[in-house]
Amino acid sequence: MDLHQHVLVVPCPAQGHVTPLIKLAYSLAYHGIKVTFANSEFIHAKILDAMSDADKEQCPIRLVTYLDGLELHPDQRTGPGLMDSLKKVMPDNIEKLIKQINQSDNREPITCVIADLTVGWSLEAASKLGLKQVAVWPAGPSCLALALHIPKLINTGVIDENGSPIKNELIRLSEEFPVMDSSELMWCSPVTAQKFLFDISLAIKQATENASIVLCNTFDELDSSSCALIPNILPIGPLPLVKNLNPSVGTFSSQDLTCLNWLDKQPSNSVIYIAFGSTAVFSQKQFNELALGLELSGHSFLWVVRSNIVNGSSPEYPDSFLERTASRGKIVEWAPQEQVLAHTSTSCFFSHCGWNSTMEGLSFGIPFLCWPYFWDQFHNKSYICDKWKVGLSLKYDEDGIISRHEIRTKIDCLLNNDEIKTNGLKLMEDAKKSVNEGGSSYENFGSLIKYLKA
Ligand code: UDP
Repeated sequence: MDLHQHVLVVPCPAQGHVTPLIKLAYSLAYHGIKVTFANSEFIHAKILDAMSDADKEQCPIRLVTYLDGLELHPDQRTGPGLMDSLKKVMPDNIEKLIKQINQSDNREPITCVIADLTVGWSLEAASKLGLKQVAVWPAGPSCLALALHIPKLINTGVIDENGSPIKNELIRLSEEFPVMDSSELMWCSPVTAQKFLFDISLAIKQATENASIVLCNTFDELDSSSCALIPNILPIGPLPLVKNLNPSVGTFSSQDLTCLNWLDKQPSNSVIYIAFGSTAVFSQKQFNELALGLELSGHSFLWVVRSNIVNGSSPEYPDSFLERTASRGKIVEWAPQEQVLAHTSTSCFFSHCGWNSTMEGLSFGIPFLCWPYFWDQFHNKSYICDKWKVGLSLKYDEDGIISRHEIRTKIDCLLNNDEIKTNGLKLMEDAKKSVNEGGSSYENFGSLIKYLKA
C-alpha cells in the first residue's frame, strides 16, 4: 500500500478562519495528502453538529481536537481572552497532539504543520519537532504586507510604537499599492481594540517571517503589488472556485437550504443578498434602519439575520415589517452563502467585506454594497470600491447611523451601474483562469503539493 504524506492543519477557532482552512484541507486530501484537522473542542462540536450525515461519512480528512485553555472560562471564547489563552497553551498542546498522533500512526506520521498565521505560534511545535512549516493567511495580501511593514511605518513616523497614527496622513507601501488613510490601518478598527489588534499584527509578522511558505486565499493577478511585498507568499485562490471542495463543511451553524428553493422561484438578477459574516453586530436602531432601507428599495431580498446580530441578542423588527415584506423577503439564520452568490437570481451582495465573503463575491462576479465593521474589512472595502471598482460603500450620517435613505439610494446606484457589473464579470473570469489548469493559483497549488511530498 502507498504511504501518504501527513499534514496537520490548524485554523484559528473562528468561522472566517475555519472556512478557508477546511477548503484547503479538502483540496490537499483530493491531491493524495493525508490530512488531520485540529479544532478546539468547542469548535469541533459546532462543526460536527452542523455537518450532515452524508458529509460526515464522506469526510476525506480526520477531525481532531486540542484544548484551548478555556475549559473553565467558556464565556471568554472571543477576542482578547481567547487569543491570550491560545498563545499560552497552543504550542504545547499542538506538540502533544502531534506526538499522540505519531505514536498511534507511526506508518504515516505528521511531517508538516499548516497553521493559520493568526495562531502562528502553533508552528513553534512544528519547529521543535523538526517538521515542515507552512502558514496560511486567511485575509487579503495587502493586510499582510501592512503587518510586515510595521517597523518601516514606525521608523518613518507614520505610527508610534503602539500602532497609533502620529498624523492623519495617507499611506502607500509601494508605487502600485492603493493610497490608504492612516486611520484605516487594520489594527485601528475599532480604535478601542487597538492594543489587542496591534499585538496580533506583530505576532502575524513574526510568524510570517518564520514560515517557509505563506498560503493565501487570493490570486496573483488580483493584487500582484501586495503579493510582491511578501517574499514567501503562495496565492492559491480563490478557494471558492477550486474544484472538488464542499462548501457546506466547516460552518458552525446549519445552513438553511430553503432559501435556495426560494431563490429558484425569483426572476434572474432580482434579489439582494445581505449577510455580514459571523461576528458583525448592530445596534437595534441601526438594525431598524437597515430593515426599512431594504423595504424602501422595493427589491426582493434574502437576508441573513443571526440570532446574535443586535449586540449579541435577537433583533426586533420594525412594526409590521415582516408582514409588509413577506412576499418579497426571505430571512434566514445562516445561508449556504456560496450557493446563494452563485445563483442566477442574486443581483448584488450587501456585505461586511470579510475576506472570505470578498473572495466569494468576486468568484461569482457579484457587485458589492460595502458595510465594513472590523479589522481588515475597511481595507477590503477600499479595494472593492476604489481599486477593483466592483462595489459601492455607504456613508454614515451626522448621528453615526447609515440611514434607510442612504441604503435605498446606494442600492439603486449599484444596480444601475453597468461599469461595476462589467468589472465584476471580468474579475470573475480572471479568477476562474487562475485556478484552472495552467493558471497562476493552479500552478502554485501544484508547487505546494510537490513541497509537501518531497
Ligand atoms: N457564511 C455562510 N453563511 C452565512 C454567512 C456567512 O456560509 O449566512 C460564510 C461565508 O460564506 C464566509 C464565512 O461565513 O465563508 C464568513 O467569513 P468572512 O471572512 O466573510 O467574515 P467573518 O465571519 O470572518 O467576519
